[in-house]
Amino acid sequence: MSTAPSDLVIVGAGIVGLAHAFEALANGLSVTVVERDRQPVGASVRNFGHCCIGAQQGELLDIAELSRGGWLRAAAAAGFWAREAGALVVARSEAESAVLEELHAARGSDVVRLRSAAQTAEALGRDSVGGVTGGAFLPADLRVNPREAAPALAAWLASQPGARVLWGTAVTGVEPGTVHTTRGPVHGSQILVCVGHDLDYLFPEVAEAHEIQRCRLNMARVKAPAAFRADSAVLTATSMLRYDAFTAQPSAARLREEVLGHSPELLEIGANVMFTRLPDGTVLVGDSHHYDATTPPFLDERVSQLLLDAIADVLGVPHLEVLERWQGVYANSRRGPLLVRDLAPGVRAISVTSGVGMTLSFGLAARTFAGTLSATAAD
Ligand SMILES: Cc1cc2nc3c(=O)[nH]c(=O)nc-3n(C[C@H](O)[C@H](O)[C@H](O)COP(=O)(O)OP(=O)(O)OC[C@H]3O[C@@H](n4cnc5c(N)ncnc54)[C@H](O)[C@@H]3O)c2cc1C
Repeated sequence: MSTAPSDLVIVGAGIVGLAHAFEALANGLSVTVVERDRQPVGASVRNFGHCCIGAQQGELLDIAELSRGGWLRAAAAAGFWAREAGALVVARSEAESAVLEELHAARGSDVVRLRSAAQTAEALGRDSVGGVTGGAFLPADLRVNPREAAPALAAWLASQPGARVLWGTAVTGVEPGTVHTTRGPVHGSQILVCVGHDLDYLFPEVAEAHEIQRCRLNMARVKAPAAFRADSAVLTATSMLRYDAFTAQPSAARLREEVLGHSPELLEIGANVMFTRLPDGTVLVGDSHHYDATTPPFLDERVSQLLLDAIADVLGVPHLEVLERWQGVYANSRRGPLLVRDLAPGVRAISVTSGVGMTLSFGLAARTFAGTLSATAAD
């Protein structure tokens, strides 16, 4: 393969690599994206498509807010679906309502809008309030169709002067100025390695030093119950136990004890009971969290059933009709949510090492080209 050098070569056509390619072009750089598969099939197409902004805290909130504008610009340029639909957090106990009220008090009504039990139940399409005690609407959150966004962005990039995407081209090694691939060398002044959890295949010591693990998640797409109308992403109590904006609230510890008391099996599978609607009306539901160095391929049906039952319960329906099931995998590290590592002059690795890569992708890219994305600690 003979290709002219680019200003920037990006390894990986997931959302992190593609967001960087999008921002590189916007900054007047030429860019080549090198992807081993024939289309994006990694974490970026297997997720909820939820840009989960309002539930972030601290630096991740800053990056997520920056990301929002990038998502909207990319959607407008590449013509993919992006909805400013927010997120609805459902409360079904006094402790859950207390966490939402505390977040509202901390952030204000522009960022967190409290919902009554009746409003929340209506958005879910429940025929009665049942056990719903309230809710909160997080207006900043976005939704995209994860099956469409990365492929559409890659196709748009490939059509732009100054950009190209090399599909079916696996990277076997990286050195300053050159990316070695199964189709020959690709040259660039700067190189970004955006391969998510597969960083260990290319740079095992770097991945090990950051203690990167593979987090695997059971997911499904279901038929929407007839009455379910909510356009926003829907989060529940177990989501409040995962995202920092909620866990930072005084009542979060009480909420954890409460969930441990009534649903220990959900904590055992690391559940984040949540769902989002696709443009065709079907609903993405999930998810569980299990951590390994290498991902076993088998989907435990008990885990899937626990999640489906929990979501049917939130929606107030007896069961959900499953259309598809799959396993998602993303990079995780107990050392922190980001790996940004300078590997050699002009060679940097960027992996999101927590489950918020969709949310952060364009914010990370904006920081990269503003020169404000700092390398994370090496040990
Ligand atoms: C089930 C699930 C639900 C999630 N929900 C959300 C959510 O709601 N909101 C959110 O913000 N985040 C969510 N996430 C996390 C998010 O999807 C990831 O953090 C994000 O997609 C990571 O993007 P990426 O580009 O780093 O990785 P990927 O999308 O995995 O892309 C990496 C790419 O690199 C390529 N690659 C790897 N090695 C090589 C090589 N040697 N040569 C060439 N190419 C290579 C791969 O083929 C792949 O295409 C979820 C993840 C999962 C799995």
